[in-house]
Amino acid sequence: MNQRLYNDPLPGSIAGFELSTLERDAHPICALSADLVFVYFNPAWFDFARDNHGEPAISAQFGVGTLLTTVLPQVLCDFYVSAYQWALDTGETWHHDYECSSPQLYRLYHQTVYPFHDSAGLLVVNSLCEERRHIPDYRPPHPPDAARYRSQQTGLIKQCCNCRRVQRPAEPARWDWVPAWVATMPPETTSGLCPICSEYYWKYRPA
Ligand SMILES: [Zn+2]
Repeated sequence: MNQRLYNDPLPGSIAGFELSTLERDAHPICALSADLVFVYFNPAWFDFARDNHGEPAISAQFGVGTLLTTVLPQVLCDFYVSAYQWALDTGETWHHDYECSSPQLYRLYHQTVYPFHDSAGLLVVNSLCEERRHIPDYRPPHPPDAARYRSQQTGLIKQCCNCRRVQRPAEPARWDWVPAWVATMPPETTSGLCPICSEYYWKYRPA
């Protein structure tokens, strides 16, 4: 199945980049219009999704014409929208680090957002900065114990959408690494930000 999605007709260049350059690039790349609608994904985007067990869901949920805010976790929406709008308004390149770990590997990505020269949109390039096996002393693994992690008030399990650790409702300041729930998110999970990731995100929020 051809999972690559483009506008029709296929553009020869995007954001001043030759399309062939983006197509060959090994980094997952997407482009957004000025109203933050996806207009392009390169092949490496779909390779990344497949390698991280995101397919076929990614292709089913994301496509040309999808509005960014409909696929972002609610807790990250304001952050990304304000940052992308800042890049559009100022013409400045915006940089941001984020985590995208698997159950086995800690992975840190760097995102570079290039505003188009005519301010008609953004090119978003994601680069792997660091990849290593998880260090148990830093992030000890915990078993997927729903009784421990499901809130009695809300019935939900809260997982940080950056580091993927899970909050203990009885000890709200504790967020545990539960690899089984990184591999497969349990039902009735809500996305949150743990205090460290929250501080981190706000620290880098454009003024
Ligand atoms: Zn976190």
